[in-house]
Amino acid sequence: MPKLLSNTSSIDQRSLDWVPTLFLIILPVVAVLLTALYIYLDGLSWGMVGLFITFYSLTAMSITAGYHRLWSHKTYEANQPLQWFLALFGAAAFQNSIYKWSVDHRLHHRYTDKEKDPYSINKGFWFAHIGWMCHKQDWPPEARAYGRDLEKNPIVMFQHKHYLPIAIVMGFFLPTLIGWIMGSALGGLAVGACLRIVALHHGTFLINSACHWWGKQPYTTDNTARDNLILAFLTFGEGYHNFHHLFATDYRNGIRWYHWDPTKWAIKINEKLGMAFNLKKTNEQLILKARIQKDRSQAEALIPTYKIQWRQKLDQLSSNLENAQKQFLELKAEYKELKYQKQAASHQKLIEIRTELKLAKLQLQASLRQWGQFQAHLIKLT
Ligand SMILES: [Zn+2]
Ligand SMILES: [Zn+2]
Repeated sequence: MPKLLSNTSSIDQRSLDWVPTLFLIILPVVAVLLTALYIYLDGLSWGMVGLFITFYSLTAMSITAGYHRLWSHKTYEANQPLQWFLALFGAAAFQNSIYKWSVDHRLHHRYTDKEKDPYSINKGFWFAHIGWMCHKQDWPPEARAYGRDLEKNPIVMFQHKHYLPIAIVMGFFLPTLIGWIMGSALGGLAVGACLRIVALHHGTFLINSACHWWGKQPYTTDNTARDNLILAFLTFGEGYHNFHHLFATDYRNGIRWYHWDPTKWAIKINEKLGMAFNLKKTNEQLILKARIQKDRSQAEALIPTYKIQWRQKLDQLSSNLENAQKQFLELKAEYKELKYQKQAASHQKLIEIRTELKLAKLQLQASLRQWGQFQAHLIKLT
């Protein structure tokens, strides 16, 4: 496991970047003091709680759906009004401009856990969480190439050029104004601006630190990224980080319908509204293949060389699983197609396919269960 703190040698006092360092240290103190003062003077109102939740959600989503899934990974496309919305509210999160954030993030994906990863977990939990922003770090020479497409986007470059005034107006002035309209400018500034920025900072920072520290690795062990349900709740769905590192161009991070990923739902709603389009999804077969491959390499490491029948069992179960999925996906596609051409398809045919589909789903679930049970069995035996 990586260290909690970085090597002292890598934290050179002279390399401290004082502006973000002071901002990250002073703002939490100011937020707590102002919130206490506001509650003491005006009393906490439900309206102000609502302002916090609304501003937190809008700015958090602008980071996850905008900075991350739209601009860093191009997992979908957005029309101009949606881009403006995400760019303006994203600035209010005080996490730097889209351009800077996205290039850093692309470097993180390109060099995960390595020296050139701007927030490598191998330099310590606190470095990945917050320390990396407190130190002057030069981008590697190739970094500019990672932002070429963003340089061509006028909205991204406008936000980059005028980042600070936009961030101050959207992040501080707007919630203070709304607070003033609601009866307490101090409340708006304390809760809607300062406290909300601090809470969102650490919510986002957890993705770089905790999502590389705690959780499961269902798809790959080639890097430190992990899936963590609790973190998914805290980060608007970004907690499925193991999946995300392997399939970064997927607009979803939680791929099942029941996975807690409000960012995915927001993008989908925007698609229905005609604001977002070309949503990219990873092929289901590729996802299962990755899972099988990861489980297999772990299982094979456990199996003694002379246990040939165990390896044969692995072969048999994995091919059963892939076949069951193939059959299920084919029937699902056929069913969708028939349903779409309702008039042409006979009602009877639809019922038949639906029954076959249900059976194929059961078969797939059974194959998945057998696969999981055999893995557990191997762990127990070895
Ligand atoms: Zn990561
Ligand atoms: Zn990412």
